[in-house]
Amino acid sequence: MASKLSKTEYIMFRECPNNTWVRRQRPDIHSQYEISEFEQALAQMGNEVEELARGMFPGGYLIEQRHAGAQELTQKLVAEQTPVLFQAVFATDTCLAATDVLVWNAGAGAYDLYEIKMSSSEADGEGRKDRKKEEQFEYDLAFQANVVEACGVKLNKKYLVRLNRQYVRQGDLDFSNLFILEDKTEAMAVAQENAVHQMKHAQEYLSQAVQPEGHCPCYYKGRSAHCTSFAFINPDVPAYSVHDLNRIGLSKKYLEELLHAGVLHVKDVPLNDDRLTEKKLNQVRVHLSQEPLIDVVGLAEELNKLEYPLYFLDYETYPTAIPPFSGYRPYQHIVFQYSLHVLEAPDAELKHYGDLILGGDPAEKIAEALVSHIGPKGTVISWSKAFENSRNKEMAALMPEHKDFFLNVVERTYDLMDIVEHQHYVHPGFMGRASIKKVLPVLVPSLSYKELPVKSGTDAIEGYRQLTRALIEGEEAEQKQKDMLEYCKLDTLAMYEIWKHFRGVASGV
Ligand code: SF4
Repeated sequence: MASKLSKTEYIMFRECPNNTWVRRQRPDIHSQYEISEFEQALAQMGNEVEELARGMFPGGYLIEQRHAGAQELTQKLVAEQTPVLFQAVFATDTCLAATDVLVWNAGAGAYDLYEIKMSSSEADGEGRKDRKKEEQFEYDLAFQANVVEACGVKLNKKYLVRLNRQYVRQGDLDFSNLFILEDKTEAMAVAQENAVHQMKHAQEYLSQAVQPEGHCPCYYKGRSAHCTSFAFINPDVPAYSVHDLNRIGLSKKYLEELLHAGVLHVKDVPLNDDRLTEKKLNQVRVHLSQEPLIDVVGLAEELNKLEYPLYFLDYETYPTAIPPFSGYRPYQHIVFQYSLHVLEAPDAELKHYGDLILGGDPAEKIAEALVSHIGPKGTVISWSKAFENSRNKEMAALMPEHKDFFLNVVERTYDLMDIVEHQHYVHPGFMGRASIKKVLPVLVPSLSYKELPVKSGTDAIEGYRQLTRALIEGEEAEQKQKDMLEYCKLDTLAMYEIWKHFRGVASGV
């Protein structure tokens, strides 16, 4: 018997039927990419937001979903017009839904439905919202409403409860400002009708035992759009394909024509094509020659922009839905760790500073450490500086006494990744990418993240969560802190070594 369609599957299906089919019918393939600890932490964060939001509905009855009979208990409590229900379970022949909150509305003689979203309610500077995201939440609510109503339960109003991104915590959490209630009842009429058809189609599609034929839609999109099911669904596409060409996602027609002409591997891209931009052409050439292509003059010019002392700086941060400290907004990153390698002069000894702050808001201690190590002159070097600079600006806003310092750091930050991005240095081993994880093993093979227990930013985030919530203790906690410090240190050492490699090449050494 086919399993019932859940809300998660329905929402995934709306995003991508192929990937959702793999998830349901080929769990062996899908589980090869098990969700990371960070993704688990995100799910946990979602649960925490939901639990917190329940505080807006006092006296609610929580139906434990894991208990057998949750559906029967729901029926009984609904029949009794129980004032507030959390996690009420409803099932039709084909669908299953657990609603976040139901509130009995005596005046309307029906329940009001509330769905709690971890996502914040956000609009751009001109008040426009991300329509795609908005629609996703409306269809999420529509799924729930359709299943509840199909079970014979009358619904009155339909609401979304979302985090308010503009909220800034001051002291205790203020629930009335932390959450925003959006009445979606009107929008539901159309969404629910559409969802009825989509839900039927989704259940039929996902119940097919045989894999849907052909390539998936991302066959015509650049690599950054691909999910982890891409290789399984499109086995004819090589690991280094035309999907990896520089900014190919923005040249849709060109990509389509290459694919229709049977050109899959980067090595087969015709070189006499006007649409092959210089960057794409360089990428193909270095692959064919297996030799790096270096713009020595441009590289030297870039490096000459840097002023000693050089400060190689990296942060580890924790983005949390519920602001844990005063001054923070929902999802604002907490900078809990830094690593800084300092080179005072070309031949000076490389110095290292770093720390991991647990317990309380780490901002002040991080700021004090940086102020003491980063002098008024010199270039601060990051890899993909937009991230570090966003944190610098947030810390400037958080601590007025350090505002000038952090804004000055923003001004002085140079993005070392630009050398790869702007192709002053193209290497076949980069395979068209510019991340430090891709560049480091090619240019400095002696340094590697592979052997480290903490080997990614997401591992560090999970480490911080475990340590600050006392999920690990004693020796395990001590070891985790050492591993996290080691990881962050490698990030800045990697930058220093890559810079040194570039410097050697630029000076002809
Ligand atoms: S690669 Fe894109 S289209 Fe293909 S299964 Fe993944 S998300 Fe869907």
